[in-house]
Amino acid sequence: MEKAEMTQNQKLLEERLEDAQAVLVGIGEEFNEEFEEIARFPELMSALEEVDINPTLEWTVPFLEKCYIKRHNEGRVVDAYRALYGLIKDKDYFIVTTCIDGNIEKVDFNRKRIVEPCGSYKALQCSMNCNNELTSPEDFTQLVCQAILDGVGLDSLERPVCRLCGEPMAFNNILCESHYMEEGYQPQWEKYTDWLQHTLHKKVCILELGVGMNLPGIIRWPFEKAAYYNEKASFFRVNGQLYHMTKELEQKGVSIAENAVDFLNRFHNE
Ligand SMILES: [Zn+2]
Repeated sequence: MEKAEMTQNQKLLEERLEDAQAVLVGIGEEFNEEFEEIARFPELMSALEEVDINPTLEWTVPFLEKCYIKRHNEGRVVDAYRALYGLIKDKDYFIVTTCIDGNIEKVDFNRKRIVEPCGSYKALQCSMNCNNELTSPEDFTQLVCQAILDGVGLDSLERPVCRLCGEPMAFNNILCESHYMEEGYQPQWEKYTDWLQHTLHKKVCILELGVGMNLPGIIRWPFEKAAYYNEKASFFRVNGQLYHMTKELEQKGVSIAENAVDFLNRFHNE
């Protein structure tokens, strides 16, 4: 019974996508990297043990996470991105994601059509946000990855610091909390809002995938609003728990009560 219903939803989604002139995609909490398969990388496990024993090495954890993300290129989330790519690749799409892990870039989406308002692991900023400089983390990450592969110990590394104020550097993402430097995603955000404006009178298919209530102001509420004001919009909300549709969208919205990663992965079995 449930399976038949899902198939119907899949068909409906494919129909709406086929028909759409633009596709707006929101990706949220259900796609967040959970580092579940870290045990597959013994050198990362021993590095984390080193941090456990010596808490002054806590600062290396985000770099270890980045090492993991760089090396772990398969799994159900990447598969789901691949399925999504297959569904929308020929469309005029834009993707807003609250994920900071950058896993979406493991699939061939056009990066100019992705905005990551919560930041990522792609740049470093001053952890005190004393200036608006972004620097590449690649060289230092390479150093960390190599150190753990060689087993030389994390305490041999020197923490990167801001060249202006001397405070530690941090990845340019919301984990910086009040010091998060938002300039990092602004250029893409402007492209996105511009794109969105141009969809107002188009048949836009809105896909809200696994977006919870942690940061509803980024995707959930604005997507509802976009669906509400655009008469030709269709709206799909896919979520394992928070799948309920607002009253205003009951007519044009489709609510799919399934984890969005699992839902997308069904498209591989066609
Ligand atoms: Zn600084």
